Amino acid sequence: MLYGVFSDVHGNLEALGAVLDFYSASRVEGYICCGDVVGYGPDPDECLGLIRALENLHIVCGNHDLAVIDRIDVEWFNPYARAATLWTRAALGEESRRFLENLTARLEHQDFSVVHGSPRRPADEYLLSVAQFRNNMSLVKTWPLFCGHSHMPLCFQCTTAGQVEALFLEEHQTITGDVAPYGNVPVAYNPGSVGQPRDHDQRASCALWDSEARTFQVFRFAYDVAATQAKIRANGLPEYLALRLASGQ
Ligand code: ZN
Repeated sequence: MLYGVFSDVHGNLEALGAVLDFYSASRVEGYICCGDVVGYGPDPDECLGLIRALENLHIVCGNHDLAVIDRIDVEWFNPYARAATLWTRAALGEESRRFLENLTARLEHQDFSVVHGSPRRPADEYLLSVAQFRNNMSLVKTWPLFCGHSHMPLCFQCTTAGQVEALFLEEHQTITGDVAPYGNVPVAYNPGSVGQPRDHDQRASCALWDSEARTFQVFRFAYDVAATQAKIRANGLPEYLALRLASGQ
C-alpha cells in the first residue's frame, strides 16, 4: 500500500495544499500524520478540515495540538509558540477541537507505529541522536516507526554490521531501512515538516512510504510563502513566525 507520510503542518494551508495535490497525483491509498496540525500558522481550522476528510488516515497528536486543547501548559512554550497557541484556541471551530481531543499520542498499526516525538515521551522528546533512538527501541512493537517534531527529514536505521545510523534525508533519496532479509528490524522515519521546515529549505517537506517495497522517499514542494506570511501578519501573529518560513528555520 502506498502511504503519504507527513507531519508538522502547523496551520500552513498553502504548504498543505501543495503536499495534498502531490498525494492525489501519486494515488496514495492511505495517510500517516505524525501530529502538530495546528500552532504557529494562520489556518488551523482549514488545515484540520482538509486532514479530517482524508480517507484511511492514521494520525497522532503533537505537543502543539495538545496545547491548543489545553492539555499542555503553554508556560513551557517560547513566547512565539505561546502567542500562536492562544490565537489558535480562538480560531478553532468546534468540530476541529473535538477532532484534536480524540487523538491519541501513540498509534500501533499492524504494519507500523506512529508518535509525534518519541515512543517514551511522545509529546516532547526530539528524536535526533542514535543514543535516543537506541533508548526508545524497546518501546516499539511494530516497525517502521514514523515520527515528526524536529521538523527535519531524518532516518534511523540498523546497518548490516549491527550498528545504528542517523541519516538526514535529501529530496528524492530512497531508503529501504527494513527490507528483507532483515524483516521487522528497527527503523524510524521522519518526513520533515509540511508547514514550517527547519533545515534551511523553505519548501514543504513530506514523504511516500510503500509498505510492500518497504521504501521511504522524501519530497519537497515550493508553495506561496508570501501568501502565508501575509495571513500571519494580517492575523496579528508574531512577525518572527512569518520570517522563519522564508528562511526555512
Ligand atoms: Zn512541530
